[in-house]
Parts: sequence; structure tokens; C-alpha cells
Amino acid sequence: MNEELLEIIIPLDLKYKWSAGPHLGAFLRGLKEEKIIANRCPVCARLQLPPTPACGRCHIGMGEDWVELSHQGSVISYSSVVDPMFDAGIGGMRPVPYTIAAIVLDGGPDVAFFHKLEENNPEKVKVGMRVEAVFRPPEERKALMEDIIHFRTIG
Ligand SMILES: [Zn+2]
Repeated sequence: MNEELLEIIIPLDLKYKWSAGPHLGAFLRGLKEEKIIANRCPVCARLQLPPTPACGRCHIGMGEDWVELSHQGSVISYSSVVDPMFDAGIGGMRPVPYTIAAIVLDGGPDVAFFHKLEENNPEKVKVGMRVEAVFRPPEERKALMEDIIHFRTIG
């Protein structure tokens, strides 16, 4: 019996459409208009970012109480990425190093918003540092998370 391992490479080119739904859709449309949109629970008043159909605490329908949040916030955690990997947002390999941060926006939700930082030097990234969203120019926005290029250091 031949136990040679065979490798078969099958290129796939799949095109599909995906519906964001009313809640994530509101968030993505907001990004295109340079807005960061959360939604508020009608029972506990907790904000969800990105908006969700149900409250993570109460497990009830969130409705459509949209709240526009500040573009500024504070880093509460971060991770420096040093291994290259494919990034669908740029359609290729993202240059390393780069930093992904959990950011709590001012006046914002109980949950963190995850995005890239402009600052790539891990020695300069600190918990508590102040950051601000940098949006693409209006003509380049596509109602995608990538409409925010990154968060730059402020203060
Ligand atoms: Zn709730």
C-alpha cells in the first residue's frame, strides 16, 4: 500500500454577497458618514458597539436607539502583531509590525472597540494612552470597518 501523501491545490474564486442586517448595517453606514454608531439597550441602557440585535446583558431586543460616539477614546489593552498574515481589508499581506488595540471611546459603551493603532512601536504603546479615529477621505469610504484607517495618538 502506497502511503505517499498527495497534495492537491484547488484555486477557488468565490464571489458572494453578505447582508449586514439592520444593526451592523447602521454601524457600517455610519462609518461611511464619519460616524461611530452604537445602540442602547431599552432596559439596562448598556451600549453595544458595533450595534447588536440583542443586549449582551439582558438578552432582549435592542431596538433602534442609535447613539453616535466620540471619535476619541483610551486604549485599555493591545497586542503587537509581528507575524505577517493575509488581511482581506487590504487584499494582501499586512506589513508588520502593527498594533491592534481595545479602545473604549469617550462616553461610550461598556465594551471595547477593536482597531489598529497608527503607532507600531510596542515601546510607545501604553494602556491608558489617548487615541482618535482617522477616517479615509469621503470619496474612499465603502461602509466598511476599513473606513477607519487607524487610531492615532493624541494628547
Ligand atoms: Zn440590557
